[in-house]
Amino acid sequence: VFSHIVHAPEDPILGVTVAYNKDQSPVKLNLGVGAYRTEEGKPLVLNVVRKAERLLVDDNSRVKEYLPITGLADFNKLSAKLIFGANSPAVSENRVVTVQCLSGTGSLKVGASFLGRHYHQKIIYIPLPTWGNHPKVFTIAGLSVKSYRYYNPSTRGLDFQGLLEDLGNAPNGSIVLLHACAHNPTGVDPTPHQWDQIRQLMRAKALLPFFDSAYQGFASGSLDADADAVRKFVADGGECLAAQSYAKNMGLYGERVGALSIVCKSADVAPRVESQLKLVIRPMYSSPPIHGASIVATILKNEEMYREWTVELKAMADRIIRMRQQLFYALKDKGTPGDWSHIVKQIGMFTFTGLNSKQVEFMAKEYHIYMTSDGRISMAGLSSKTVPHLTEAIHAAVSN
Ligand code: PMP
Repeated sequence: VFSHIVHAPEDPILGVTVAYNKDQSPVKLNLGVGAYRTEEGKPLVLNVVRKAERLLVDDNSRVKEYLPITGLADFNKLSAKLIFGANSPAVSENRVVTVQCLSGTGSLKVGASFLGRHYHQKIIYIPLPTWGNHPKVFTIAGLSVKSYRYYNPSTRGLDFQGLLEDLGNAPNGSIVLLHACAHNPTGVDPTPHQWDQIRQLMRAKALLPFFDSAYQGFASGSLDADADAVRKFVADGGECLAAQSYAKNMGLYGERVGALSIVCKSADVAPRVESQLKLVIRPMYSSPPIHGASIVATILKNEEMYREWTVELKAMADRIIRMRQQLFYALKDKGTPGDWSHIVKQIGMFTFTGLNSKQVEFMAKEYHIYMTSDGRISMAGLSSKTVPHLTEAIHAAVSN
């Protein structure tokens, strides 16, 4: 009965790792997947995460019972505080519903399914380009996916005029997916003033903001600064959704820990929204896993551990910024043709290099360097030792 099934294509991002794993070269380099690596090229478990895990293991009162459908209550409260701010009026007015979900993807998925069932407008606008999973998650939820202009390849910056035009022409009430900070894959974010203009336009047309916050703290090194855009939207009293991930900022990739928050207009709406979120989650996976959320809650509620986290998070963000500088100066010193200043201007984990798919292919074949075909490289996968090899490869690819 299954013999008619055709082989599905490899995921474009995870497929890069498949190709990398097959390569036998000792100098091979994987700049595809957005996971942090140390200077030595190794995955990193934060010290504060190890500490939290030890506390959890030593606490014999802890059991492995099911969590409620909405997850760990402490975790939800602390996650809302982290993204919306310690003094958020929306939180203190009980207008925010937060449910623990399976990392950023799971949070987007639960939010998308909720909107597909209960929101009157089924159109969602996503930036062009965006993270490849976005259109899939929203389409499966029954939403009609359209895109708005975001990136201008000729300036390697934001196509702000195009963005305003496209959102200006969107049907009233449309949902708009916004990257809270460190836009993936471009590394290009609106300025605070541009965010204000986007917000005013969206509120005037009753467009519903759905924030994807996968990199809070990872862009600037400051958790508050990276949540600024989200907080501005919440501060005007309107509704919004936010999907949070702890994959990058706490290094909890495989623990799958994240949260979906829905900011409602008033406190009487919130419990009704929560009751419907439970109906979305229950048939999907019943309830979320306990371990990752317990780690996060342990860290967020302890002042000393929270401080330790921010120091380790800043160290990761700073190393990425150093890699940007090293690569930029190496290309400059080598006299590589082109303007490479976007490498230091872009924000977050990725650089959108501007290399085309042919050049990407060339670099894999000749230099054993792997990246997504759109020329996106994960700066976190680089180290001082590998910058010269990448510089050689880029130089050869663009001089070819
Ligand atoms: N959104 C964006 C923009 C991302 O880059 C990612 C991670 N690549 C995610 C969401 C979700 O990641 P996760 O499910 O691992 O939290």
